[in-house]
Amino acid sequence: MTFASLGLIEPLLRTLADLDYQTPTPVQSQSIPAVLKGRDLMAAAQTGTGKTAGFALPLLQRLTLEGAQVAGNSLRALVLVPTRELAEQVLQSFRSYGANLPLSSYAVYGGVSINPQMLRLRKGVDILVATPGRLLDLYRQNAVRFAQLQTLVLDEADRMLDLGFARELDELFSALPKRRQTLLFSATFSDVIRQMAGELLRDPLSVEVSPRNTAAKSVRQWLIPVDKKRKSELFLHLLKERRWGQVLVFAKTRKGVDQLEQALRASGVAADSIHGDKPQPARLRALERFKAGEVQVLVATDVAARGLDIEALPLVVNLDLPVNAEDYVHRIGRTGRAGSSGEAVSLVCADEVELLAAIERLIRQVLSRREEPGFIPDHRVPQTTLDGQILKKPKKPKQKLIPGAAKSGSKGNIHLGRWFEEDEARPKVKAVRKVPSFGSKPQGGKR
Ligand code: AMP
Repeated sequence: MTFASLGLIEPLLRTLADLDYQTPTPVQSQSIPAVLKGRDLMAAAQTGTGKTAGFALPLLQRLTLEGAQVAGNSLRALVLVPTRELAEQVLQSFRSYGANLPLSSYAVYGGVSINPQMLRLRKGVDILVATPGRLLDLYRQNAVRFAQLQTLVLDEADRMLDLGFARELDELFSALPKRRQTLLFSATFSDVIRQMAGELLRDPLSVEVSPRNTAAKSVRQWLIPVDKKRKSELFLHLLKERRWGQVLVFAKTRKGVDQLEQALRASGVAADSIHGDKPQPARLRALERFKAGEVQVLVATDVAARGLDIEALPLVVNLDLPVNAEDYVHRIGRTGRAGSSGEAVSLVCADEVELLAAIERLIRQVLSRREEPGFIPDHRVPQTTLDGQILKKPKKPKQKLIPGAAKSGSKGNIHLGRWFEEDEARPKVKAVRKVPSFGSKPQGGKR
């Protein structure tokens, strides 16, 4: 299969040759012809599978061939994304894929001044990439009009809902022309997303290029059990001992991110961070420095988990497991992209066993455990099973004291509950393979 056989025009083929994209990825070979024909699309694609080009290339082509002039404060295609970083990244993709085409593109998102955005929108723009909150602000201030809009793309639709954009989306959808093409992309699908798709899409083509809710096969995943209070120390130890190169580390809270960043800097490691409390320019700068290799360790909350494309990132570490199991898939999707291999290591403490079980059930894989000498936890992480069970430590049976048997220090005839050690072969548990139905919510996930 070639890009030419998908019906792409010559200027796009030239750009793809310059980018050294030789063959379309599966999501591209399915999406491109359908989008070119004007069909609606509902695509479930793994992270890093090339889905951005899957919608950007045919969209650029349609806009070019139709050739309409965009009016002031208007747009012809709208791409909604959940985060500011993703907005910048998708914009850059449109600009790079559209390098040989006479189309304009621009991105609007919160966290930066709205005035330059209002100014730029006055001339109108062919392709606008936006986060929902800022776009709604602009719409309410009459800085954007949707009358000319012909295509709407929802990228990472599930993430937009997770981030609480449901109300903004509702208001925006009702302002959009009813006659339009809609493309919905999401790495994971929940019931709510399916319902949204049912309301927004007309006779959509369903594209699913990989098993749902699984990370790229090229990512080697494993975990190290550790006590909660020793996680940062273990991370520093691993970084040094295993001579890790560039690492993207995810922590649960902003505070956790700051603490690890400080500990790293104090040890002389070039580290930076991204989280919601940081001003947007600082977040973008941190990402750019990491991409340029000036920073060895980038510490982030889940704000950074979705969609970011960091070339050839070898390693992702979960300092904390995500509360939402689906975020695990997105986090580790930052590595092993575009065919290269990657590694994802999670530092897991006993408190997190339920999150672990939910993740393993979602990805249908029990993560292999490796203890790190010197960091064997006092609080053992209970074993988990493929169907999301946690093998709790059996309770001690009630003591039946037999006179004379219980001397000081002796266990008498009390049967001690046995616990399974990390290194032991896992006990035989009937591994009922429960495959969640499409749209089922991950266990333990917070919505
Ligand atoms: P995405 O999933 O859209 O974020 O893309 C992941 C990465 O794959 C990006 O770095 C793209 O530049 C790259 N990519 C996308 N499509 C292709 C292709 N057909 N051949 C080679 N690389 C690609």
